[in-house]
Amino acid sequence: MSAGGLPRVPEPPPLSSLGAADWDVLVVGAGPAGAVAAALIAGARLRVLLVDRTPFPRAKVCGGCLNRRAVAALRNTGCWPCVAALEPAPYTSLRVGFRGKEAVLPAPEGAVVTREALDTALAAWAVEAGAVFAHGVRAEVHAPSRDCREAALGRGAERVAVRARIIIDAGGLMSSLEAKGGARSAVTAGSRVGAGVILRDHGSLDSAPNAIHMAVAERGYVGLARAEAGHLNAAAALDPAYIKARGGLGPAAAAIVNAAGFSAVAGLEEGSWTGAPALTRRGGPLTGPRLFRLGDAAGYVEPFTGEGMAWALEAAEALAPLAAKAAARWDAGHEARWRAWHRRRIRPHQRLCRLIALALRSPTCTSAALRAVTVCPALAAPILAYINGPSPGETHAAA
Ligand SMILES: Cc1cc2nc3c(=O)[nH]c(=O)nc-3n(C[C@H](O)[C@H](O)[C@H](O)COP(=O)(O)OP(=O)(O)OC[C@H]3O[C@@H](n4cnc5c(N)ncnc54)[C@H](O)[C@@H]3O)c2cc1C
Repeated sequence: MSAGGLPRVPEPPPLSSLGAADWDVLVVGAGPAGAVAAALIAGARLRVLLVDRTPFPRAKVCGGCLNRRAVAALRNTGCWPCVAALEPAPYTSLRVGFRGKEAVLPAPEGAVVTREALDTALAAWAVEAGAVFAHGVRAEVHAPSRDCREAALGRGAERVAVRARIIIDAGGLMSSLEAKGGARSAVTAGSRVGAGVILRDHGSLDSAPNAIHMAVAERGYVGLARAEAGHLNAAAALDPAYIKARGGLGPAAAAIVNAAGFSAVAGLEEGSWTGAPALTRRGGPLTGPRLFRLGDAAGYVEPFTGEGMAWALEAAEALAPLAAKAAARWDAGHEARWRAWHRRRIRPHQRLCRLIALALRSPTCTSAALRAVTVCPALAAPILAYINGPSPGETHAAA
């Protein structure tokens, strides 16, 4: 651990040294999808280069809730101990508020950890598994040749060309591989934008201490959850026009918490909020010659159900064996297998998440749903079970 309590990631290697090597796999993006894929593939003794355009440690707008599926994927891939060492805060219920009414629903146990800590731990784990991690380095992918795919890596004005047998695009919501890698991702009309803040060493919220608190209003929603080390992690999806009308991210989030009927949260309005891009978008194509996409780079919907990291981690677990085979010998069947896995395992969850996000935009639907689950909490159980499934122990593989 470093002095700040975060795991240590090594200094990035000199850029010029990266062009000399012949890489099996270049992984672009060191969020949960990229870091775990890199660790698993490096663990299979392939030469893996993991790059991220932001110097680490870095924060990321996110509620930080690892649901049961995400925790199961972390356990399956063997990296749970390094996450557990961060002492994430457990949660066991979901508290939803709308127009002064609220419901507290039991939720399958999950854990909350800030992304600053989580992503640093996962990147450190990838390095331990044998991946080379170049952070503060931006990648741009070029057209494939017969036996490899080339990319340009850049840090400031410095540039270097690298070759890899395959490239994994785990570049997240704004994967900038789009620029040269083919089709662009497209923002869905009416999409909300993301925002987040970590309130450090924060006191408890006044009720349901082991809950994820979701304040819902017509113009967006705010999630609040206790994370490691007494931090309070806040994340929101907000209408851009509402942010403007309220005069900023903090005031808009505080107004939503108030409209939902929750008590004011100290420091929320004046906290140093960070914005994220439009949330709902179709990703670029899932595959290309010697290219796989996963995590948010493969398309994303609003984060109300808090599943993004579960999708990213399960995809990393599933892609790793396929990517190892594809690096050894490329054929187009690998692309078909990845698309089929994604269609089967991720798409249905994205559809449900989109449906819930849409329903929440209707005050009538939101009020009716809240009334229904207040009277009969069991009504929410199948949806929560689906979102948080599969049962512990189930593994994923696309190969
Ligand atoms: C407001 C909000 C709240 C959320 N809350 C939750 C939650 O509670 N639980 C949950 O599970 N999910 C949540 N999510 C979703 C979750 O944050 C994402 O689904 C998850 O981060 C996806 O991981 P990833 O690895 O695909 O991408 P990311 O975590 O976005 O990582 C992508 C990385 O790629 C890097 N990168 C991009 N382009 C390049 C390039 N060209 N070269 C080099 N590096 C590049 C970026 O710097 C970044 O570090 C939330 C999202 C938002 C916006």
